[in-house]
Amino acid sequence: MSFIETEEQKALRQAVAAMVANYGQDYYLEKARAGEHTTELWNEAGKLGFIGVNLPEEYGGGGAGMYELSLVMEEMAAGGSALLMMVVSPAINGTIISKFGTEEQKKRWIPGIADGSITMAFAITEPDAGSNSHRITTTARRDGSDWILKGQKTFISGIDQAQAVLVVGRTEDHKTGNLKPALFVIPTDTPGLSWTKIDMEIISPESQFQVFLDDVRLPADALVGSEDAAIAQLFAGLNPERIMGSAMAVGTGRLAIAKATDYLKTRQVWKVPIGSHQGLSHPLAQIHIEVELAKLMMQKAATLYDAGDDFGAAEAANMAKYAAGEASVRAVDQAVQSLGGNGLTKEYGIAAAVTASRLARIAPVSREMILNFVAQTSLGLPRSY
Ligand SMILES: Cc1cc2nc3c(=O)[nH]c(=O)nc-3n(C[C@H](O)[C@H](O)[C@H](O)COP(=O)(O)OP(=O)(O)OC[C@H]3O[C@@H](n4cnc5c(N)ncnc54)[C@H](O)[C@@H]3O)c2cc1C
Repeated sequence: MSFIETEEQKALRQAVAAMVANYGQDYYLEKARAGEHTTELWNEAGKLGFIGVNLPEEYGGGGAGMYELSLVMEEMAAGGSALLMMVVSPAINGTIISKFGTEEQKKRWIPGIADGSITMAFAITEPDAGSNSHRITTTARRDGSDWILKGQKTFISGIDQAQAVLVVGRTEDHKTGNLKPALFVIPTDTPGLSWTKIDMEIISPESQFQVFLDDVRLPADALVGSEDAAIAQLFAGLNPERIMGSAMAVGTGRLAIAKATDYLKTRQVWKVPIGSHQGLSHPLAQIHIEVELAKLMMQKAATLYDAGDDFGAAEAANMAKYAAGEASVRAVDQAVQSLGGNGLTKEYGIAAAVTASRLARIAPVSREMILNFVAQTSLGLPRSY
């Protein structure tokens, strides 16, 4: 392990930053406000190999790791285009399918996920289960060799723009009790699968949906891997998800700090730029430290994950996600404060991040659930639930 990024990693950072700069934050916000998707950016990121950088080379990916994918995410967010589907499609789904899918499933899905021509949504959250995945009730029953899925999901990002969705359910044999998940890939045009948009107050080109599975009939090969891999399959997606959540938050924090810094250098209402007042410079310096510390933990998590230490990566990924979420929320808040009235205008593009940055405290796992994990796993304290 090294604290110094390789020449390839540095070049990747520069290339992603350059691509995002060509679009600019205005592009992202304009698309979001118009209710449109950032299809051009997604397609270009796919074509340049950024989306699938972590996926195996033999299936069209870049053959690198979560370190590189998180770097892509961080640079996209820092450039003002924090695309949620990066967390979902290549990080969660790409990882699960490439680690646990059958040969046919890998051949069918991974090349498209890698080049961006397939976007795959991920659906675990249910209205009555929330943070407690053990309570999910989406159930798969067998009908001959087919599977019939019934259930409901909520807050599912980007299913409207996805060609398929990876649904976490449970089989009838394990209908109750601790979750023994069964994962299914469902093409979004499958009869019985439908969704309605949830009106969110987040300015984002990617929307959230209630998803309904009304006796969705699936062939046997829709089940990812085998029923026996169950929980291991789901867990394989969790560390990447948290590392990417951290990367999105670190990038958003960097964006906010950069906007505030630029402003503080030039805005003058007394005799000196307002950045000379320590009432503004110190909070920003403090937040810069917090974002950098969160980034370091994210890099540790990604390094452990890529080295195959899933247990070590889990603690670091949770800590990174917590730290990055907190730091980015504070960074955005302080950036708004630094810009005064302009902090709340459309023109300066920071007010748009106020609600969006709060997401890092809630999804994909809330800060309270991370604190539960750290209290129980790192400190060995008893559970309250
Ligand atoms: C923009 C957005 C995108 C999302 N995208 C997806 C997606 O693509 N796919 C998907 O499956 N899900 C997605 N989610 C869902 C997300 O993962 C959940 O919102 C999140 O896990 C929290 O679940 P919940 O909203 O049901 O909150 P709840 O579980 O109802 O929790 C409410 C509050 O109670 C706290 N709480 C709950 N249990 C405990 C406890 N034991 N101890 C202490 N505090 C506790 C929580 O931390 C939270 O603060 C998305 C959510 C949002 C907002």
